[in-house]
This record gives sequence, structure tokens and C-alpha cells, in this order.
Amino acid sequence: MGLGSKLYSIAFNKCPKCHQGDFFVTKTSFQPKFDQIHHRCEHCNETLMPETGFYWGALYVSYALYVIWCMTAFIVYNYVLKLDLDYFLVFLIPTLVLLMPWFFRLARRTWLNLFVNYDPAKAKNKAVILSTNHS
Ligand SMILES: [Zn+2]
Repeated sequence: MGLGSKLYSIAFNKCPKCHQGDFFVTKTSFQPKFDQIHHRCEHCNETLMPETGFYWGALYVSYALYVIWCMTAFIVYNYVLKLDLDYFLVFLIPTLVLLMPWFFRLARRTWLNLFVNYDPAKAKNKAVILSTNHS
């Protein structure tokens, strides 16, 4: 999972194009404004908000991640810990609520990585971003 792989960008909150700039504004999922995405990469100027409604597709990724989490939790709960299944939801539901911001961010990074590939040239050269504000 080194620099240049999509897993690197997804796991470490990095721009899918250059793997240098941050994807989300905040570093972790568990602080205010965890859902804020940079509109453009700070390093290569790649757009991280391609079009309006682009991240609706991330809902499908999020759904798949939740299913994987629920199945893994079931296997651990039932076959490893061998606990009573009557209390499985008491165990599962708090984990789903607490991990919601983490799944949210993971799904969005994964979704954009499906469409944007790593470019080593963009990683080396920092883009000159010209400001359009004339005040
Ligand atoms: Zn970038």
C-alpha cells in the first residue's frame, strides 16, 4: 500500500491524482466539519468536487462497506466470541452509529478513486494556483 496505489489515497486521506494534498479538510473523522472536502487539491489543483451530485454514487460504496462490516461483526460475534445472538443488535447498532463519519469519508475517497488515477508527474510538481479574487 505504497505511494501510487489507490489504497494509499483512500487510507491516508490523500488526493487520488497526486497523493500529496489532503482530500478532506480535517485530519480525522471524529471532529467537527469531518465532511468538508477541499474543492481543489492544494498540491496539484485537481478538482475533488467534479460535478454537482457526484458523491451520490458514494452511497453505494457506503452501503457495501456497511454490509461488509455487519457480516464481519456477525462472524466475530457468533463464531469467535460465541456470544448469545439475542444481543447481537445491541452490539452492532452502536458500532454503526459511532463509525458513521469514518464510513462516510472512506466511501467518498473510494468513489473518487474509481474515476481518478494516480499521476506521478503531478506528485512531483506543485501546481501554481492563481487566485481569481481581485479585491
Ligand atoms: Zn492532488
